[in-house]
Amino acid sequence: MKQTFCSIITIGDELLIGQTIDTNSAWIAQQLNPIGIPVKRRIAVGDQKNDIIQAIESERKDSNIIIITGGLGPTSDDITKPVLCEYFNTTLVENQEVLNHISTYFAKRNRPMLDSNLRQAMLPANCEILFNAVGTAPGMLFKDQEQVFISLPGVPFEMQYIITTHIIPYLVTHFKTPNFLHKTLVTSGEGESFIAERLKAFEKNLPENIKLAYLPKLNIVKLRLTAVDIEDHVLETHFETLKTLLQHITVTDKDMELEQVIGQLLNKMGKTMSIAESCTGGSIASRITSVKGASTYFKGGMVPYTIESKENVLQVDSAIIETHGVVSEQTVISMASKCVEKFNADYAVSVSGYLEKNDHDNVVWIGLSNGTHHIAKKMIAPYDREKNTILVTNAALNLLRIFIIGHP
Ligand code: AMP
Ligand code: MG
Repeated sequence: MKQTFCSIITIGDELLIGQTIDTNSAWIAQQLNPIGIPVKRRIAVGDQKNDIIQAIESERKDSNIIIITGGLGPTSDDITKPVLCEYFNTTLVENQEVLNHISTYFAKRNRPMLDSNLRQAMLPANCEILFNAVGTAPGMLFKDQEQVFISLPGVPFEMQYIITTHIIPYLVTHFKTPNFLHKTLVTSGEGESFIAERLKAFEKNLPENIKLAYLPKLNIVKLRLTAVDIEDHVLETHFETLKTLLQHITVTDKDMELEQVIGQLLNKMGKTMSIAESCTGGSIASRITSVKGASTYFKGGMVPYTIESKENVLQVDSAIIETHGVVSEQTVISMASKCVEKFNADYAVSVSGYLEKNDHDNVVWIGLSNGTHHIAKKMIAPYDREKNTILVTNAALNLLRIFIIGHP
């Protein structure tokens, strides 16, 4: 086997019935990508001995790194450890360091320790133990000639801890990997096919070892350039061209979310914002507060969902709603300017619209205000309720970003 490949096997009956969504393999693949280890396959199997062995046998034909998650819990349905023990022809021995860790772990939490917990310190004799500081089941690394088999707990944060602290450093030193470079441009305002049309010539002129990927997400399109074994400045040159071509729709030239970009902007300016969102029901506020330290620039928001609360709580003039309608340019402008006032903020964004097909053609109005300047924009939300909420949230965040830049 010349090239390095990784296969990810996730184990658990819950994965097969869809009760738990396999996020582990996606997360692992994301960690392997920047160190240049390609994932050959991701497969899920149940807690069944034969299925686990069959999966390992088949994956080792193509991959020299096999990462397995799940089935290491203390309960009887978790069988990965004994199966691996049998597969690698070894026995379980007590590991003193792990035993001490488990005892301390339970003592600290003031919880009684059961035999099943103690059994987690019984580990295969011929594997390398990957210490798990954040849980009780350690990871295990088996070697067989040029191949490595890594078994990790299914609990996402425990698996992530072991991958980050043990596996990535191990793989980087033990496997020859190509040098991958990524550059991401985040855009908003044009669809991916429209962008692709603009980038036809650019794409054609890209060298063999630079690839362009489109990652569309409801009103956001991320464009990622990936270069393999190439010098920094070569990729940089192509990235600069890409930026120039898409200048009019660029949000940021880093792999960041809109809410992070807004946070950075407001922090830099020392300004604050607030939100009055009707149809998005708090989704914009939730995105804003997902950023650490948002309290320095986010004053607060409200969800005045009915006409009554728009009038009584936000104090939008009832005449405006009566004359122009609750989903209108005038109403969202009034919502935004009242919001600036109520929250004593520098900027406000407001939303009022219909997110589901009805007589109103899914019209959504987004308003922006800084107390003296007001702008509103109309959009159509063509999907289902869930997708439309994300679409409108992204649009509102992007309009807020543009408004802040335009009205410093
Ligand atoms: P286990 O190591 O099999 O005891 O898994 C413990 C818990 O981790 C399970 O109950 C799931 O909630 C979660 N889990 C297991 N496998 C995965 C996976 N592939 N992706 C996300 N969560 C998982
Ligand atoms: Mg399990």
